[in-house]
Amino acid sequence: MIKENLKQVLSIIEEAKKDSPYHQDVTLVAVSKTHPAEDIQEAYDAGIRDFGENKVQELMNKIDVLPQDIRWHLIGHLQRNKVKYIIGRTYLIHSVDSLRLAEEIEKESAKHQVVTHILVQVNVSKEESKSGIETEQAIDLIRAISEMKHVQVEGLMTIAPEDENPENVRCYFRMLKKLSLDIDALNIDNIFMNFLSMGMSGDFVVAINEGSNLVRIGTKIFGARDYSNM
Ligand SMILES: *Cc1c(COP(=O)(O)O)cnc(C)c1O
Repeated sequence: MIKENLKQVLSIIEEAKKDSPYHQDVTLVAVSKTHPAEDIQEAYDAGIRDFGENKVQELMNKIDVLPQDIRWHLIGHLQRNKVKYIIGRTYLIHSVDSLRLAEEIEKESAKHQVVTHILVQVNVSKEESKSGIETEQAIDLIRAISEMKHVQVEGLMTIAPEDENPENVRCYFRMLKKLSLDIDALNIDNIFMNFLSMGMSGDFVVAINEGSNLVRIGTKIFGARDYSNM
């Protein structure tokens, strides 16, 4: 089932790319949170190497029992006291949204003598319930992080509001793309806009149309999540 789902998602991604004016490559991050390691192995065997988790403990448990060449993406809210556990183990942290969190990542990365690659999460829709820094404050945060030797900004991430009609959230993807172009134009030292992480199961086609090159898809690959025994 996972294999068939993947095939379908990858072909929809290919179609969506044709409608993007940016002609970007798109990487699929298979969001495996709440799903067992066997499901991840199945997706891995089908060729997927990028997986997304939103909890540090769950990520750690899975890293130990799965192939070492998996690129792990931490996509959920990250508490500062958990940073020390994951330094050196992630390919990309998508959810950095405050200076204090970035400083903690810098401190722990320096300790381990590694550079940690991150995205800045922006709350473009200004939804109360969403984490992410406000659009107006994103550039100040990025300037501050640019001074850090062990934290490397690779781009931006956003989560669109839930909406049955993805057309209603197109504007937020467009806003994040614009912000990434604006930041790129500032040519800040040590800051890259290589990744634009936007689009989930319900809205990834629209996100790709608007320039996303990193989509985070769970339900459409692994099925509905069951939180009852978490
Ligand atoms: C769970 C999650 C996803 C995947 O959501 P689906 O709707 O299942 O595709 C993507 N991004 C983040 C940040 C998530 O927490």
